[in-house]
Amino acid sequence: MAEHFKNYIDGQWVESESGKTFENRNPANRHDLIGVFPSSGAKDVDRAVSAAKKAFSKWRLVPAPKRGEILYRVGELLRKRKEEIARIMTREMGKILKETRGDVQEGMDTAFYAAGEGRRLFGETTPSELFDKFAMSVRVPVGVCGLITPWNFPMAIPTWKIFPALLCGNTLVLKPAEDTPHTAVKLFEILEEAGVPPGVVNLVHGRGEEAGAALVRHKEVRLISFTGSAAVGREIASACGRQLKRVSLELGGKNGQIVMEDADLNLAVEGALWGAFGTTGQRCTATSRLIVHRDIKKEMTDRLVERAEKIRIGDGLDESVEMGPLINEAAREKVHRYVQIGKEEGARLLTGGTIYEEGNWIDGYFYRPTIFDRVSPSMRIAQEEIFGPVLSVIEVKSFEEAIEVLNGTPYGLSSSIYTGDVARAFRAMRDLEAGITYINGPTIGAEVHLPFGGVKDTGNGHREAGTTVYDIFSEWKAVYIDYSGKLQKAQIDNVE
Ligand code: NAD
Repeated sequence: MAEHFKNYIDGQWVESESGKTFENRNPANRHDLIGVFPSSGAKDVDRAVSAAKKAFSKWRLVPAPKRGEILYRVGELLRKRKEEIARIMTREMGKILKETRGDVQEGMDTAFYAAGEGRRLFGETTPSELFDKFAMSVRVPVGVCGLITPWNFPMAIPTWKIFPALLCGNTLVLKPAEDTPHTAVKLFEILEEAGVPPGVVNLVHGRGEEAGAALVRHKEVRLISFTGSAAVGREIASACGRQLKRVSLELGGKNGQIVMEDADLNLAVEGALWGAFGTTGQRCTATSRLIVHRDIKKEMTDRLVERAEKIRIGDGLDESVEMGPLINEAAREKVHRYVQIGKEEGARLLTGGTIYEEGNWIDGYFYRPTIFDRVSPSMRIAQEEIFGPVLSVIEVKSFEEAIEVLNGTPYGLSSSIYTGDVARAFRAMRDLEAGITYINGPTIGAEVHLPFGGVKDTGNGHREAGTTVYDIFSEWKAVYIDYSGKLQKAQIDNVE
């Protein structure tokens, strides 16, 4: 019998109003049914938003250090249950245990960072231009927040949004991805156990077009924080624009790793393998383009191909496995379609390009690590986000050309350069159009206390993580206190 899971609204685990459900299955083995989850609609969203609105009046007044203490307890509980949650996550979305442990670790790091922020959450004090007058700015919460998240970081991404939102005094409704509802349930069990009051956090499962869209439309939701594809991000941004609703978007990437002729090739090969095939290439920061100087291209690609062919593919719950499945059948079809497009465009397939159905793995969505050579920068496989284990190698003749190629896509999330030349490293830092630049490291590896996000089509200018996320989840209020006992007029009374 499949386990039945529920929504979490106003401190209670409840069914959806319609009673409709959807199934969640293991991508490494489609016969493994994880559970059945409510397929929620507008009524469920409305119920959750009403609970969040009611809870807001009290939660916003809880001192920020106290809110931080609750988040500290959340971090401790995540630590205690790290292994259990990592296993649940691997079964639910396929990435290997090392990575799902890292995903929970990111949640813990975010909790402890937010807990500390509870005793800062600094505003500014500044002199007034007038006598006997005091001026300062303070952060105030926004209100009810709607959070919509993807499946590739089922713990980290919800916590990136939930913890800072709560710390700032907001209440919220989370609509997690349909492919990873189980991890979200675990997180909400922990929020409940840590003492987050009823109504402050609410969980509504369901399809994006139903539950997600209802959250975006809801008049009482003051802010939407969305991480996902650029296509859905655009729809959400325009719906929010029409309502003048605050919206933060973290969208796709087409990240490049540059390798110059003066680079440490061992390092560059390790970085490219991890960047391209970690999480089966399903990271917003995955390396999907390798931009290599022609002098070292042959050696670099030979080594990469040799290593890629040795990557152990299988169920991520097996500690010896290095790459798990893709998230679902549609994702595998998409990856395979792009491989055909690459071939038709004239790129040369060096390895992979086929579905992996060996031995026990016939019932999962596995795909071989794939490398294309002779890719030109304008090809679709070099421009569009594939979100799978496909790496396109682009040959360049100079540093300047490498920078131009890396910048030549609509996205601007992560970027990397391997070089032994400090001047090139500094030029790359300055000239790469991306929210993140790594020098002698792969395109993945962000830490939670630095700003995270991208330029161009990767988002709309916000940054999660770091202190910058607090600008998403709070409003600035300027406060003036006049103790002169008379009416003083700014810009008028202070003029000589
Ligand atoms: P997706 O856009 O299909 O779905 C993301 C979420 O949006 C899901 O919860 C989905 O149910 C919901 N949704 C779908 N349609 C909706 C609608 N019309 N209204 C409201 N909600 C809707 O993305 P995905 O396949 O889950 O995730 C992969 C994408 O996410 C990739 O493009 C990847 O680059 C991106 N991503 C970006 C970051 C980042 O921080 N920049 C991080 C991780 C993933």
